[in-house]
Amino acid sequence: MNSPAAATIKMSEQLAARLSGQTLARRLRADTGGDVLFDAGARARYATDASIYQIEPVGVFVPRSEADVINAMAIAAELRVPILPRGAGTSQCGQTIGAALVIDNSKYLNQVIDFDAAAMTVTVQPGMVLDHLNAWLKPHGLWFPVDVSTAAQCTIGGMAGNNSCGSRSLAYGNMVHNVLSIDAVLADGTQARFQDEAGMAGAAPRIAQLLGGLRAIATRERDEIARMVPKVMRRVGGYNIDIYHPQSERPYTLDNSVNLAHLLVGSEGTLATTRRITLKLLPLPRHKVLGVVNFNSFQKAMELTRHIVGLAPVAVELVDRTMIELAMDNPAFRPVISKALIGAPEAVLLVEFAGEDFGVQRAALARLVDLMGDLGLPGSVVEMPDAGAQKALWDVRKAGLNIMMSMRGDGKPVSFIEDCAVPLEHLADYTSRLTEVFTRHGTRGTWYAHASVGTLHVRPILDMRRGGPHKMRAIAEEAGALVRQYKGAFSGEHGDGLVRSEWVAWQFGPRLLRAFEEIKDLFDPAGLMNPGKIVRATRMDDTSLLRYPPGYRPLALSTALDWSAWNVQVDPVSELTSAPGSGGDPAGGFAKAVDMCNNNGHCRKFDAGTMCPSYRVTRDEQHLTRGRANTLRLALSGQLGEDGFTSQEMRDTLDLCVGCKGCKRDCPTGIDMAKMKIEFLYHWQQKHGLSVKDKLIAYLPQLAPWAARLPWLANLRNTVPGAALLSERLLGLSARRSLPSWRSDTFLGGAAAAGVPAEQADVVLFADTFNNYFESENAAAAMQVLQAGGYKVFVARPAAGDAEPKRPLCCGRTYLASGIVEQARAEARRLIDALRPLVARGVPVVGLEPSCLLTLRDEFLAMGLGADADALGAQALLFEEFLAREHAAGKLHLPLKALPQTTALLHGHCHQKAFDAVSPVQTVLGLVPGLKVQLIESSCCGMAGSFGYDASHYEVSMQMAELSLLPAVRAAAPDTLLIADGTSCRHQIADGAGREALHAARVLARSLSM
Ligand SMILES: Cc1cc2nc3c(=O)[nH]c(=O)nc-3n(C[C@H](O)[C@H](O)[C@H](O)COP(=O)(O)OP(=O)(O)OC[C@H]3O[C@@H](n4cnc5c(N)ncnc54)[C@H](O)[C@@H]3O)c2cc1C
Ligand code: SF4
Ligand code: SF4
Repeated sequence: MNSPAAATIKMSEQLAARLSGQTLARRLRADTGGDVLFDAGARARYATDASIYQIEPVGVFVPRSEADVINAMAIAAELRVPILPRGAGTSQCGQTIGAALVIDNSKYLNQVIDFDAAAMTVTVQPGMVLDHLNAWLKPHGLWFPVDVSTAAQCTIGGMAGNNSCGSRSLAYGNMVHNVLSIDAVLADGTQARFQDEAGMAGAAPRIAQLLGGLRAIATRERDEIARMVPKVMRRVGGYNIDIYHPQSERPYTLDNSVNLAHLLVGSEGTLATTRRITLKLLPLPRHKVLGVVNFNSFQKAMELTRHIVGLAPVAVELVDRTMIELAMDNPAFRPVISKALIGAPEAVLLVEFAGEDFGVQRAALARLVDLMGDLGLPGSVVEMPDAGAQKALWDVRKAGLNIMMSMRGDGKPVSFIEDCAVPLEHLADYTSRLTEVFTRHGTRGTWYAHASVGTLHVRPILDMRRGGPHKMRAIAEEAGALVRQYKGAFSGEHGDGLVRSEWVAWQFGPRLLRAFEEIKDLFDPAGLMNPGKIVRATRMDDTSLLRYPPGYRPLALSTALDWSAWNVQVDPVSELTSAPGSGGDPAGGFAKAVDMCNNNGHCRKFDAGTMCPSYRVTRDEQHLTRGRANTLRLALSGQLGEDGFTSQEMRDTLDLCVGCKGCKRDCPTGIDMAKMKIEFLYHWQQKHGLSVKDKLIAYLPQLAPWAARLPWLANLRNTVPGAALLSERLLGLSARRSLPSWRSDTFLGGAAAAGVPAEQADVVLFADTFNNYFESENAAAAMQVLQAGGYKVFVARPAAGDAEPKRPLCCGRTYLASGIVEQARAEARRLIDALRPLVARGVPVVGLEPSCLLTLRDEFLAMGLGADADALGAQALLFEEFLAREHAAGKLHLPLKALPQTTALLHGHCHQKAFDAVSPVQTVLGLVPGLKVQLIESSCCGMAGSFGYDASHYEVSMQMAELSLLPAVRAAAPDTLLIADGTSCRHQIADGAGREALHAARVLARSLSM
């Protein structure tokens, strides 16, 4: 328990690990079919979960089959290497990390094994993600109701490991209430189905002996169990020894019989590895209604919760003022949360009723409205009977923690007393007294979540690099005293792990702790399963285990981009942020921007959002936003060696990032990996130089005028047999790709680009390299549409005095994509200089290619270009954004006529999605009479600028496209218009489906000419 002991345990574990690591890797490669990841980068990426800790594993094993798991465990046990099973790694307490062989079940072991619709049971492998299971069950009218916030990421194995529970646990309970059996493998290789005790009669001698031992302990400790196990439903700490003498408010089994699977539930991988789990299912509730109760005092919300619970809702969830404000600051959440508010409440309670009959649910909602009136709060309920609105609001609530973690600076909300559970009658007192504790320690906490069961999440803001560990312990001790006084549970949801295992003795007493140690030894006498968790624990404030220990400091780095907005500190009480650049980051804010990733794993997602296409196709931690941010953090802090940041490992980790900016929008803490990749590439090319292919692509805007003059020569790669293969061999450009064809009829060289002089213009058209040289008809179409709308268009051209007056203006995107930031900055300056007088007059600057135009609103602001760049960025609009804005203002009058086609499929470019710029395209296309526009629910097209042209990316690029875009395109009727504003998206559609997609400007132009 004390620090020297902890250090000794850690050192001996690490030594054992190092000695055994190589042999282990060799044996795993020889004797299993799984992926064996023992390199420094892979180990580093599995050294963290969503907790504050970091421990490097011996190695990582990704089994392809259940047999692989059994073999790997046998090899590890033989070499006496600890074993740590893992799902999505979203645990908050450090239970998913250790100096062990980490076995990641999430990639391959994620199948439904057995399903019995009549009995309402399903058996799954441990790596199955909860949302995927529920999607699978939906057609059968069933669901698994343990609805944890991380449902899109967390695995059933991890949920069982943690005894997880969700917002609706009031109605459906924890995992322990919903697991029927677990097929487990013990560290010594014994396999058994842990289930109802009667069903285990006649088990093999090893298991029979285990069961006998367990029962003997429980019988001996009967009185102590009754005395020390908290009698609340939300208790997940320690082992569930109360299966024998039930203590929970909600029985684990209907008849109080003993089910041995329930002892494994919540055991955090310390007793056995789960191979399969059988779950109890429920019919999907047909109807749900939601009432959002607005309170003008937090205290009042706490006091009245128990009255609301009396109406038998399935959930009562708290969202406090801070959380409301943070959600209002997030563009994706603002429209949703604002619909739930009446004025500016201090707190809201989300109250859900669910069941078969809509009328009954509506009546319950009416009772809630009446109740609030009776309790002195008439008119405080926003009623939401609509399923869509409910889901959107629940998504905001589920993102609660992540929203909170978007705080910049080194002080962060820290999870350590995050889920204490107290009886409802004490909730108001408990929260106000704990708030006083925070104040005494110079911090504050934001309260949210499961009011219905007395488990409110709260994370005091602490700076673990400066005094945080000391304050953490002091606050935990005072919080513990309150929990004890109110007869609550210290761990009501997230488990023990590294942060709370030392509190197991405090909660259950020394006698039960010894009993827990005996249980551990019965299952795992060699102590190999996830050691140091639940029993024989380290101290919560052992600084040698912290991800950011006191004195943590990244290496100095002179950055190419401006990261000063992240280089701040936040006052934990007032939450006031210091001036940009004042945060003391030797990497100029870049390291702090990277540190914003708190490892919550939200990027492991598969739904219709944009983040993260490379993870979706590879399912590798390395090719996930979290894995990339982790690798960057370790490199920037010198933990991947002196040159870690410019190492091949770092390059490989960022290689499949397509720069889609999906994370910039979808990551709750705003990790912008596309921008981070530019910073990395800048340093990479400074050290290693650029390949010929990268140079060719980067300098395309400089080469373009020459290529357009001699297009037949530039196009030889596409026309001469064998040239494509040669270009693959020499340059690395995939022979399976056609390259865009050069043409001499550029937009800027033709009559269509005439326009008006700058002084007369009321709009500027910026023709990017791609729409000028390769698809000039797009720019011509945009010109035609703008002029038809009565606009006086100036076509952007270099300023007088430009050093290259004949070379068209450029946004610098191709240079940024290779990390040539100086050249990109020079291009940006040319553009700014050229447009300065127009921008000063407030003339909008309109562009066609999303990745080019949006560079003006994004990267331009991070290149140290000053106020001119800000002014240009504020006026830069995509073509459709401009038209939609004009339409909304009643100023757009286009004589559009019906087209021969009546349906259109629209694919949004990733950057359009990241900047919320897809809906203007829908609005504008909606002006074409009779045209029905359907949006393809797609992620990145996979081409992503030059990404898909690279021979080494071809397969991944096509897999990304095949996720949803290409199947949707192929399924479209031949007369359906395909619309995509991105040059590379159109190219991918042509390559992958043999169909032509059009820029929206051309569709509008066609509609004008009908
Ligand atoms: C933002 C956020 C919100 C959260 N909200 C909730 C919430 O609403 N409710 C809640 O309960 N939790 C919540 N959590 C915690 C966490 O997401 C859940 O506990 C989740 O169920 C863990 O699943 P996982 O797949 O990530 O498991 P992991 O973190 O990978 O593993 C969890 C534990 O299970 C063990 N384990 C994993 N697989 C096996 C196996 N095959 N055999 C044996 N042991 C195994 C691991 O060793 C570990 O001890 C939240 C976390 C975050 C970051
Ligand atoms: S990158 Fe963002 S979404 Fe992914 S783990 Fe980090 S903070 Fe969470
Ligand atoms: S930019 Fe796109 S590919 Fe890169 S990490 Fe973010 S979501 Fe993933």
